[in-house]
Amino acid sequence: MPLLVTGTIGIDTLHTPTGEASGVLGGSCAYFAAAASQLGPVRLVGAVGGDWPEAHERQLRGFRNVCLDGLERRANSQTFAWGGRYFENMNRRETLFTRLGVLEEAPPTVPAKYLDSSTVFLANTHPLVQLNLLRQFPKRPFAVCDTMDLWINIARPELMQLFAEVDGVIMNDEEAMQLTDCRNPVTAGRKVLEKGPRQFVVVKKGEHGAILIHRDGVASVPAYPADEAQVIDPTGAGDTFAGGFMAHVARSGQRDFAALRHAMAWGTVLASFTIEAFGLERLVRLDAGQVNDRFRAYRDMTAFDLHR
Ligand code: AMP
Repeated sequence: MPLLVTGTIGIDTLHTPTGEASGVLGGSCAYFAAAASQLGPVRLVGAVGGDWPEAHERQLRGFRNVCLDGLERRANSQTFAWGGRYFENMNRRETLFTRLGVLEEAPPTVPAKYLDSSTVFLANTHPLVQLNLLRQFPKRPFAVCDTMDLWINIARPELMQLFAEVDGVIMNDEEAMQLTDCRNPVTAGRKVLEKGPRQFVVVKKGEHGAILIHRDGVASVPAYPADEAQVIDPTGAGDTFAGGFMAHVARSGQRDFAALRHAMAWGTVLASFTIEAFGLERLVRLDAGQVNDRFRAYRDMTAFDLHR
């Protein structure tokens, strides 16, 4: 099941209690692709402007399973840029600035050779860009989307249109609660499910794990336990969770409740690496052995023996 992602490719400026990084490679699509590529091939569709640094392109090309044939370079445009600051409790952050740049222009085109993608992730970007991308496929793929507070605030009707056309939504608890006016993440997830997605909603709760609310049941997974000293920069944790989740769905070829629950574990493991360094640094240094070792450790931590 070929996997494709669209979303933002950005230039990020990050402030965390542990330090700062300015002008680093980021964006929902970049994090997703870097994580998914640890489990299998991923096709990227996105756009960058004339200010896109050569070094960022090299870093993205360093992920050998990421196909960049769908990356549009627009000489007269500006790359999406975002700045964020984390509070002392790194589960919370504020956006310092968002420069939309290429997101205000025509959405990127899906290359003809990608139109057979049967698993599609619409990473966080303007909902109209997400919808436009989804509608380019002649045969409806298994489609899952993410979103963020900015789009809930400025493009809610378009977001509702999008939700009605996807199989699943992955979003964080704050955003699910903001969208549904509800303070409980499970109830908020159920209310998001009522808004349209065909099968499921995953509500991410940062260091508290994630909940799968599916038409066939509910499942909960804990986060991989990280010590304070290991948490350097949480940026992209949500996108890398989605990358691990969708890459596992794509390679397993299964999309039922049990498969999605299993995929949540892969998402959790990939996200646990991202937070260990600024930007994509940790994912650049990651290899299959490290991913599989941590998956085994996580499985052992979370398994129950019914006979004891
Ligand atoms: P996460 O920490 O998983 O929410 O993802 C953070 C990434 O999302 C950063 O690399 C940003 O460049 C990107 N980002 C921030 N705001 C937006 C937005 N409104 N739409 C799309 N991507 C965004």
